[in-house]
Amino acid sequence: MQAKKSSYLWSVITNKCPRCREGEIFQSKQVYSRKKSLKMHDNCIVCHQATEIEVGFYYGTGYVSYALMIAFSVATLIAWAVIGTLTLEDNSVIYWFFTNVGLMIVLQPFFMRLSRSIWLSWFVKFDPQWRDHQPEKLERIVPVIKE
Ligand SMILES: [Zn+2]
Repeated sequence: MQAKKSSYLWSVITNKCPRCREGEIFQSKQVYSRKKSLKMHDNCIVCHQATEIEVGFYYGTGYVSYALMIAFSVATLIAWAVIGTLTLEDNSVIYWFFTNVGLMIVLQPFFMRLSRSIWLSWFVKFDPQWRDHQPEKLERIVPVIKE
């Protein structure tokens, strides 16, 4: 069980910090809360790894999200072909299309969170000895001074 919990895939799917694979990167587990869904901790609550490692860091998640949507659409198309009867002679392709679009809209918050988790995991490496090391110093971030 421990091996599963600390695996790369598991930490990405469950939105854990990629450095320690223990701390949550999002402030809330509520996926469908408009205000809370994408709110992230500034730093991992467990290992203090910054979650925004440079200005505008999460703009790149658009590409990840796009790839996830394409993969999801291909998967639903294959599922439609296997389960249903996908032919070009009737409207089954149109039914698939609108079902797929509906599912993508409903699942969008999940995909947005997953994209951020994947994107962050590509830039922050897992450190099994994170307790003994400090997180890397950020060179391209101006720290916010709270008054
Ligand atoms: Zn962490």
